[in-house]
Amino acid sequence: MSLLDLLFPPRCPFCRGAVARDGELCPDCQETLPWRTKARAEREVDLLEGCASALGYGGLVRKCVHRFKFSRKLGYAKALGPLVAQCAADHFSVDFDLISWPPLSPRGLRRRGYDQARLLAQAVARSRGMEETPLFQKKNATGQQSLLKEPAARRANVLGAYSLIDPQRVRGKRILLVDDVVTSGATLSECARVLLTAGAAGVWAVTLASADRR
Ligand SMILES: [Zn+2]
Repeated sequence: MSLLDLLFPPRCPFCRGAVARDGELCPDCQETLPWRTKARAEREVDLLEGCASALGYGGLVRKCVHRFKFSRKLGYAKALGPLVAQCAADHFSVDFDLISWPPLSPRGLRRRGYDQARLLAQAVARSRGMEETPLFQKKNATGQQSLLKEPAARRANVLGAYSLIDPQRVRGKRILLVDDVVTSGATLSECARVLLTAGAAGVWAVTLASADRR
């Protein structure tokens, strides 16, 4: 055990119970978290070839995602990244050309200091011997998606919010988008629209968690 482990004992990112090594889940959570299996893991999202999620969004999973996003728990990526990577491997037998993510706006990134979706995209990309590719820029002006409940309002809020850094880059490419949570699918669908408009061959998505449909 290292000095760092003594000062900051490794903890399960979901229940915060002690674990042997950083990046591990405790046995309880491995057993009892709301894992999405088979058909439950996949949902239809407009314009996506497929969208798969490792977990249901609620309870400990929701609390974990909140700490990961809002409490500077960047280290959680070490445990959460492999879950997303495994989910992508389980559901998609596609050789993706590019792995990317829907980014925070520049203002959001300044405020938070890191982009949690990028950390997950990085883990998925590295599991395939790739690097994540920044494809989008996001406008500052959009409202917070999580405050909107109606699917139509969520779609309207993200319409035009994302543009491509280099449209040439995506032409003919099979692209995997990685995000923390899919709720209505509006964000991923809007990103797919932008990619397909620029000539992408297909867009898939994988997320750590998916909310139950209302
Ligand atoms: Zn746990």
